[in-house]
Amino acid sequence: MADKDDFERTIGYGEFALSYIKRNQLPAYPRSYELWYTYSAGYNHQLNRAVNDTIKKNGRLSRKEMQGIYAKFLSSSRLDDRLEELGKKVSAEVEDLVDTLQLSADATSDYGNILEKAGEKMKNVTDPEKLQLFVAHLVKSTQAAVQSSRQLESQLLESKNQIQTLQSSIETIRHESLTDELTTLSNRKHFDSALDLAINRAESEGTGFALLMTDIDHFKKFNDTHGHQTGDQVLRLVALSVKQNVRSNDAACRYGGEEFGIILPTCPKGNAMQIAEKIREAVKSKELVKRSTGQTLGRITISIGVATYKPGDDAQSILARSDQALYQAKHDGRDRVCSEDDLRDSADKVA
Ligand code: GH3
Ligand code: MG
Ligand code: MG
Repeated sequence: MADKDDFERTIGYGEFALSYIKRNQLPAYPRSYELWYTYSAGYNHQLNRAVNDTIKKNGRLSRKEMQGIYAKFLSSSRLDDRLEELGKKVSAEVEDLVDTLQLSADATSDYGNILEKAGEKMKNVTDPEKLQLFVAHLVKSTQAAVQSSRQLESQLLESKNQIQTLQSSIETIRHESLTDELTTLSNRKHFDSALDLAINRAESEGTGFALLMTDIDHFKKFNDTHGHQTGDQVLRLVALSVKQNVRSNDAACRYGGEEFGIILPTCPKGNAMQIAEKIREAVKSKELVKRSTGQTLGRITISIGVATYKPGDDAQSILARSDQALYQAKHDGRDRVCSEDDLRDSADKVA
């Protein structure tokens, strides 16, 4: 049922995208289609706002404006571009540093040469005036060397500060690239690597871990009744209930639209079931109130499937078991937690 709805919805978005492209005689390249499809689906509020504002101002969206909006809100290389730019800055900074060190090496070896030559010459000098001249020359060279090493010190300090600033920018971008914007939980990219890491660790250290997959119950209906924006607020609320019940070294991620994946490292099944129960209860305990109108919208529930690592598991196999447990929970009436031990044959007949 959900699959059929999904299919019809997807076709609807696609048809809207094509009709917009046709009506406005826009180029029908894949990016243009992606932009209008996303616009029609309505999930990317910032993109929709940018499109609406531009249309309001200019009556239509030019090819250039479309490219700009695509680059800003859709291009997956957005973060990569920023990283590349930062990478360039880091290597420029390192080059400067090498140049500075090179200069100082030259300066020090000049100074060394001067000292060496002076030492040689001094052997034959008996005239005090000449000796005085030598010493004056030496003092000057020494001052120059001191000056250059001071300059070097401040240049190095400056470089160190710049590199630290760049490092923290890289860290910010890395964090952004692993975070889901709407819920501020980790995103699917982080989930995939956290799951691989958990499996590697379980294999090499002989420990286990638990995987929880959660899905909001009848969320399509909620969206249809109250609108996507309110639906998005619910997603934030569910994310908050998840956050409040996990620890910092657990990986709590937005797996897909309204599905969350939670990895609990070294967590035995009993504990994982308890944590899942707490999350389920936390979501249900919240009375939903529409911010703009104060209207009460009732409560929302979630279903959770729990699986624990078994030797020989890979990401796909453990995901499949927690998904099956989730389907079992849906099948058994939703608003519940099921583990892989609860799986029965009927699970795959879920509507
Ligand atoms: P079930 O109890 O079987 O899970 O029913 P359901 O209606 O929740 O079905 P399904 O899990 O297939 O629901 C997917 C729906 O979730 C479709 C869409 O309306 C909603 N959804 C997915 N992603 C988002 C999102 O980012 N924002 C909002 N507001 N809704 C989303
Ligand atoms: Mg779903
Ligand atoms: Mg759902």
